Amino acid sequence: MSITGDNYLKILDNVHRLCRESGRDENECTLVAVSKTKPVDLIKDAYDAGCRDFGENYVQELVDKIPKLPGDIRWHMIGHLQTNKVKYIVGKTYLIHGVDSVKLAGEIGKQSVKNGIVSDILLEVNIGNEESKFGFKPDELLRVVPEIAQIEGIRIKGLMTSAPICEDPEENRVFFRNMKQLSIDIKKQKTDNVYMDFLSMGMSGDYESAVGEGASFVRVGTAIFGERDYSLR
Ligand SMILES: *Cc1c(COP(=O)(O)O)cnc(C)c1O
Repeated sequence: MSITGDNYLKILDNVHRLCRESGRDENECTLVAVSKTKPVDLIKDAYDAGCRDFGENYVQELVDKIPKLPGDIRWHMIGHLQTNKVKYIVGKTYLIHGVDSVKLAGEIGKQSVKNGIVSDILLEVNIGNEESKFGFKPDELLRVVPEIAQIEGIRIKGLMTSAPICEDPEENRVFFRNMKQLSIDIKKQKTDNVYMDFLSMGMSGDYESAVGEGASFVRVGTAIFGERDYSLR
């Protein structure tokens, strides 16, 4: 087994255990291996260990990698997506995680209709209220969900967040709990075309508390592939 494959299996094991400990079925949380900046060879190592869900945050890199890797991979677009890049990825992803504006949702809808498909999206929440972060504020989200839900060509499958960087992963538990509550509040609005099936939250440093609080996708890069070198991109 490769080092990458080994890391993947160890974290998968943790995710399964944390699911069971919090009373959930172990398949209720999917481990997405975040492969941004990482070469195709390392992605194959994780694939050979059984991983089928990979996350990328850069459109060009995603588009380059897709044809070089097996067709049964589910690609997750997890980064900040610019409206003018949407046309390159629509139809190629399993899920678009970081939808952070009505305008972006509109463009995804428009390109999807053009391609005769419906795209599954997650709305990004700035749960820590950080200046530097993308995403809707919780109260703002409650207001815009009905508007976004009317856009043709998309399905709102849930919410996504990147919690603040923290020393102790337990510090972010409250943010993950707030995300879960927010998804319950949105579900209560009973808007057509809004599902709230998925919560994408938790990264290398804090995925353990995210699983405990109900994450359906954890996005783990460094702990599987090692540190990133952005100069190679
Ligand atoms: C890079 C990235 C991750 C993975 O971060 P790690 O700390 O390396 O696990 C998760 N989510 C998003 C949105 C990212 O851009």
